[in-house]
Amino acid sequence: MSLPKIDEKYFTTFLVDLLNIASPTGFAEPAIEFVEKELSKYKQLELSRTRKGALVAKWKVESDLPPVALTAHVDTLGAVVKEIKSNGRLKLSRIGGLQWPTVETEGVWVITAKGEKIRGSVLIDTASGHIYGTNDTPRNDAHMEVRLDARTTSEKETRALGINVGDCVAFDTRTEVTGGFIRSRFMDDKACVANLVAAIKSLADSGQSPVRSVYFHISNYEEVGHGASAGIPSDVAELISVDMAVVGEGQESDEFHTTLCIKDSGGPYHEGLNKKMRGIAEKHGIPYKTDVYPFYGSDGEAFWRAGGDVALSLIGPGIDASHNYERAHMDGLNATTNWIMAYLLER
Ligand SMILES: [Zn+2]
Repeated sequence: MSLPKIDEKYFTTFLVDLLNIASPTGFAEPAIEFVEKELSKYKQLELSRTRKGALVAKWKVESDLPPVALTAHVDTLGAVVKEIKSNGRLKLSRIGGLQWPTVETEGVWVITAKGEKIRGSVLIDTASGHIYGTNDTPRNDAHMEVRLDARTTSEKETRALGINVGDCVAFDTRTEVTGGFIRSRFMDDKACVANLVAAIKSLADSGQSPVRSVYFHISNYEEVGHGASAGIPSDVAELISVDMAVVGEGQESDEFHTTLCIKDSGGPYHEGLNKKMRGIAEKHGIPYKTDVYPFYGSDGEAFWRAGGDVALSLIGPGIDASHNYERAHMDGLNATTNWIMAYLLER
């Protein structure tokens, strides 16, 4: 059996569009809506939402096999306004594992509760080189601030712009498609959402169906650790968490392969399902690695911790410089889409 062809142009356009939608955890609804709109084009899928706001797409198939599920997340790192300073600038509270040095000088949108957007950038509070020289102020919550591109020098003037404590702060992604690479913030995990959507498209376009019913779970709270803890139906026998593979010194993963994670901070994944995934990859000639991730947890593990009784594996494309200025290559991305399709077509 050969796999349907991947529409790379569709994949890239969808991914870039998704990356351009701000969706920090807790403010991911616009990204969920975007995926929902795209998946609503496929008449094979029954769409629903969990109360928590995750998107579930069911591809129902008559089969003697129990259903399976795949999950990927659209929420990203980000911040909220923690405090409006007396000089009109903003202190932030970080969402997820955001590290300050990775966003110093980055452009941001402050998105108010009313949906208004105010532009700004993230700076250290001792930013001027002509005042502080090469300053060694620590890059931490106390010293990083947002300078708004609006005329304000006081708390009152900033409040008059409509900004309040708790407003969403979204960082620019600096997305660039360049020579087979896609370089952007938040490839984690929008790349894998694109993998799922591209796999659905290729199967649907080629007139093929999964061999059993499948739930595609698009999670909206992964970066804070509990995304897929709810919303996976109890009759699901196998769950594939599709999320980025860790690339860097000491890692097996790279940008040109997809990876099967054997163990991360949450411990080992399911040996039996891992074995099945390796067999499928080998049968279809999918370039994959196995790896261990030092500081990592997945939505699949969130479901396990919540009491989910499934076999669980974690697969995904190699992403360089994760939770930083990330980068992936089409080879690793295509390998992941192919692995998803092969999994859906094999018993
Ligand atoms: Zn992720």
